[in-house]
Amino acid sequence: MPDVRTGLQVRRELGTWDLGRPGPTLLVLAGIHGNEPAGVQAVLRVLAHLQQQELPIAGRLVALAGNLGALAAGKRFLARDLNRGWSQEAIEALWARGDAESTPEDHEQRDLLRRLEAALATASGPVVVLDLHSSSAAGPPFLCLADTIDNRRLGLATGVPLILGIEETIDGASLEWFAQRGIAALAVEGGRHEEAATVDNHAAVLWCMLARLRMLPVGSIDLAPYREQLRQAGGGAPPIVEIVLRHAITPEDRFRMEPGFVNFAPVERGGLLAHDRRGAIRSPVRGHVLLPLYQALGDDGFFLARSVRPFWLHLARWLRRLRGDALIGLLPGVRTDPADRDTILVDPRIARWFVTEVFHLLGFRKERRRGARLAFTRRRSRPENARL
Ligand SMILES: [Zn+2]
Repeated sequence: MPDVRTGLQVRRELGTWDLGRPGPTLLVLAGIHGNEPAGVQAVLRVLAHLQQQELPIAGRLVALAGNLGALAAGKRFLARDLNRGWSQEAIEALWARGDAESTPEDHEQRDLLRRLEAALATASGPVVVLDLHSSSAAGPPFLCLADTIDNRRLGLATGVPLILGIEETIDGASLEWFAQRGIAALAVEGGRHEEAATVDNHAAVLWCMLARLRMLPVGSIDLAPYREQLRQAGGGAPPIVEIVLRHAITPEDRFRMEPGFVNFAPVERGGLLAHDRRGAIRSPVRGHVLLPLYQALGDDGFFLARSVRPFWLHLARWLRRLRGDALIGLLPGVRTDPADRDTILVDPRIARWFVTEVFHLLGFRKERRRGARLAFTRRRSRPENARL
């Protein structure tokens, strides 16, 4: 049975459910990749249910379709990946480009930006973004997020495995645009592109998030089947993993993933992952494979992730409670950037064992290498989101 329809003709505004009651804004972005229509179908299903049952929502659900042209064509994209080019510099360049040199995706992105800005400008409460995706590989659904404490709390509430560090790995994804605005944003990988279960998984995550944000009256929705759906789909994947490697590719690489990898598939150090024109590609670490590329288009061959030990999560909560970030300057090999109080500079030769984990936990984001030092920048949340 062909489960998920491709070649969707949709408008940018997939729908809104808003009864004028104060509350959070849940902004859903679906189909930023045009070969991923499952998210579009899921949010349309949830909107239809809300509207038919006239469920009294607090705040509003706003759903936008991503790449309209690519959705209609059933392709990931037409000229460029619409989930790239969301950094500050890329957006300045986007607005500076004339019509003549603009790609179809440039037009899509400008329209999306206008509507996102409009939705954010009229939001009074907290704002949470769900960006719905699907994958060419089989495996459990999962969430990718910019690693702020807000995002982590929200993500864990869905019961779907979390992947940390993705925004440090992919330059210019839309998650970055939201993270820069202090907005909680989670990308949801729902499952395989063409499977009906992927639509069910996305819909289940939407219902869980509406409940988590207390946007619907308690008891108005029976969450049990949705939780069970996600628990079964999870198939025992680790609850939290952290990306340790992105294998970037170009068409000239003639990259071919080895068959049989699913998301979260374990791989040993030295395990064969793929081939390209230079030969075999083996895993430099023991971990889990994510997003193995089994389609023609894309610039990520695969990602490798490792399980985050619960120790770090407990330490995070403990340090936050103690306002541990005030003590950062006392750590060996660590100092605040004199030019920017939200950036710290770390000498990895001295501050070895705790570097990435501890600064993530304290709300810092790995920025880049500055000479011999690593620079981490603090992620500030939108004040309204602190109550979530
Ligand atoms: Zn996608």
